[in-house]
Amino acid sequence: MEILVDSRVTNLALFLLTGIQEAEYWMASHFPDFQFRSTFFFMHDTGPSPFNANLGDIYLKIGHYQQVENDRELVLHAIIHELTHMYLRNEIGFRICNSDFGIRKFFDEGFAQLCGFQSISAYQRKLAHANVGASLVLSTGLDNLKSRIINWQQTIFQQKHFPLYQASLSFIGYLENIIGFDNLLGLFKDADCETNFRNLFREKTGSDLDDLLVSWSNYLVEIEIESGEEFFTITEIERNSPSTLRIGYKSDYPLYPVKDILVYDKTNKQFPVSITRKQRYQTMGNFDIECKKGQRLNITIAYDDHSQQIEITKCV
Ligand SMILES: [Zn+2]
Repeated sequence: MEILVDSRVTNLALFLLTGIQEAEYWMASHFPDFQFRSTFFFMHDTGPSPFNANLGDIYLKIGHYQQVENDRELVLHAIIHELTHMYLRNEIGFRICNSDFGIRKFFDEGFAQLCGFQSISAYQRKLAHANVGASLVLSTGLDNLKSRIINWQQTIFQQKHFPLYQASLSFIGYLENIIGFDNLLGLFKDADCETNFRNLFREKTGSDLDDLLVSWSNYLVEIEIESGEEFFTITEIERNSPSTLRIGYKSDYPLYPVKDILVYDKTNKQFPVSITRKQRYQTMGNFDIECKKGQRLNITIAYDDHSQQIEITKCV
């Protein structure tokens, strides 16, 4: 599993962008000891689930990527992210169990995000992005996040706009700062299904998980979302149904609107953003938001460590 931080993965990505067969050959010739069984990752509307270690087939849905910097970074990150899951299961012995399912996923995904971004030297800016999403979620209350974590699967599949992965990375990044990477990795050891994960966490860190979530939440309240920066502009607003608006935009950075554009009303209720698939990671395009006539919405746009807020004072 040295592949986790191996610079040769960059070369692997070249193949992945052009041909799976060559990639398999490259893997086999460069990593003869690697049990070449599964590398799969999950993109929107594709399957299977990446964390299901019982699935043995390679599943790389990469046909829609262009060989541009942003897309290469996405692919590299996705590979390391999934390899991290495999490492935790196959080498460390960490298990996702029915009991503690959500909280184990919270740690599992946050750690996979952290390793993925660290290995492509994108960690600080992706952590900044994650912190923006997490701080917005936490402005609706820690209990809201906790219930989304407990109902992990439902959140992932039915609330795609909810920044659960961002919250996971933000928390795991916060935790790494306090206990260090080795101790963070150590949390996944001995976490089999016989063990209560919260008790194990207390034993290993000396802290109660809920207390740490509260201190993380307090820390994020301090985070300021830049409002001076203007990398994003709305070019068009069109009503396409009694409850939805289609927003045309231009951005200096490629955005995945479902994840990078977060919409809240004044009561901190989050509203979904939806797009058609081909609108992922574009610098211009359009997305739909729910907005009834007369409604007021706050829109936060985040890309890496850039963020901007726009208010729609009255939907027409
Ligand atoms: Zn994952």
